[in-house]
Amino acid sequence: MRPDLFEAPDYYNLDELLSEEHKLVRDAARQWVKRDITPIIEEFAQKAEFPKQIIGGLAEIGAFGPYIPVEYGGAGLDQISYGLIMQEIERGDSGVRSTASVQSSLVMYPIFAYGTEDQRKKYLPKLATGEYMGCFGLTEPDHGSNPSGMVTNFKDKGDHFLLNGAKLWISNSPFADIAVVWAKNEEGRIHGLIVERGMEGFSTPETHNKWSLRASATGELIFDNVKVPKENLLPGKNGLGAPLGCLDSARYGIAWGAIGAAMDCYDTALRYAKERIQFGKPIAATQLQQKKLAEMITEITKAQLLAFRLGQLKNEGRATTAQISMAKRNNVEMAIKIAREARQVLGGMGITGEYSIMRHMMNLESVITYEGTHDIHLLITGADITGHNAFK
Ligand SMILES: Cc1cc2nc3c(=O)[nH]c(=O)nc-3n(C[C@H](O)[C@H](O)[C@H](O)COP(=O)(O)OP(=O)(O)OC[C@H]3O[C@@H](n4cnc5c(N)ncnc54)[C@H](O)[C@@H]3O)c2cc1C
Repeated sequence: MRPDLFEAPDYYNLDELLSEEHKLVRDAARQWVKRDITPIIEEFAQKAEFPKQIIGGLAEIGAFGPYIPVEYGGAGLDQISYGLIMQEIERGDSGVRSTASVQSSLVMYPIFAYGTEDQRKKYLPKLATGEYMGCFGLTEPDHGSNPSGMVTNFKDKGDHFLLNGAKLWISNSPFADIAVVWAKNEEGRIHGLIVERGMEGFSTPETHNKWSLRASATGELIFDNVKVPKENLLPGKNGLGAPLGCLDSARYGIAWGAIGAAMDCYDTALRYAKERIQFGKPIAATQLQQKKLAEMITEITKAQLLAFRLGQLKNEGRATTAQISMAKRNNVEMAIKIAREARQVLGGMGITGEYSIMRHMMNLESVITYEGTHDIHLLITGADITGHNAFK
């Protein structure tokens, strides 16, 4: 892959709205991505392997639990810092950002928000340093967009719970030390359980042959009469709202992360268009390429404003699920469209691993589907504004 010459676009001087801490956090993540992600990511994506050596670096830039309080090992930052970290990591690769999102929002957050003090103390500091890696099991082979239909279940056996079922499409599962698993009790109520690697009957086969998020490990979670200690139940919240609360946090991070992927594609296309000469002039001097580039920066700027305002609302505890859905949906679509256009600006070179664009484009095909599909987020907005739920 070529040297990383990335320069972040800031067309509306958004930096002026950031605090010194935001900029410090963002710049540290940006430099880390340039130094530790860009040089290796193409190789790991090509060989479809998660680069485990980056776990320590992710922890150092505060990507594991950015907004979890310092007393539990988190970085104690606000929601805008969290968003900026996700933006910078996804500028490098959506798969790496997925690993950080899962660890922070889908594993640390539920333990922090719904766990006991003992669970917080036992798991959060180790998750913050990357000594433990986690995964989040909600989706099942027959229940994706409709997780309420899940069949994974646990029975009370007196001194332990007996867990049975299977989860599919689980990021980080092949190497995770712990899994936050959502399952129904005997009354059909959804609860979260912490399942640890090594428990008898628990296995995590890897899913192969992905064309997307190749540098992120994805797999299954299989529970065959797994004895889960009773103290591993997350007691603070139950029902579908518990996992959906985690998804709100992760989707918020994705709304920022997608901007990073889009910025990288735009920056690459802009630089290439200025340098590439055809018909005796740079292709950047042609109206057709200018239309592409001008529309890209316009859409990136709108997405940045959406994410920033959402971050302010989130800091105030006022961001709604529907507002988060709108930002996730809009910003991921914006990014995937920009990746497709940017790929064309590079002509044939755009399909090679010399440049990051095609990798971003393929990654974003997962990002537009996971954490609620593009359609489902539209239906969430539709239900919010009309009062009519069109899911069923
Ligand atoms: C790479 C990757 C990583 C993932 N990581 C995780 C993870 O870590 N943990 C986890 O729990 N899950 C994870 N997922 C699962 C992801 O969240 C699901 O794939 C997603 O929710 C969609 O579910 P599905 O694939 O079963 O599609 P389906 O729900 O079967 O949907 C298929 C199509 O039907 C549409 N559709 C569904 N219902 C409706 C409706 N009511 N009206 C109109 N259209 C509808 C959808 O929009 C979609 O286009 C991951 C997925 C991928 C691809």
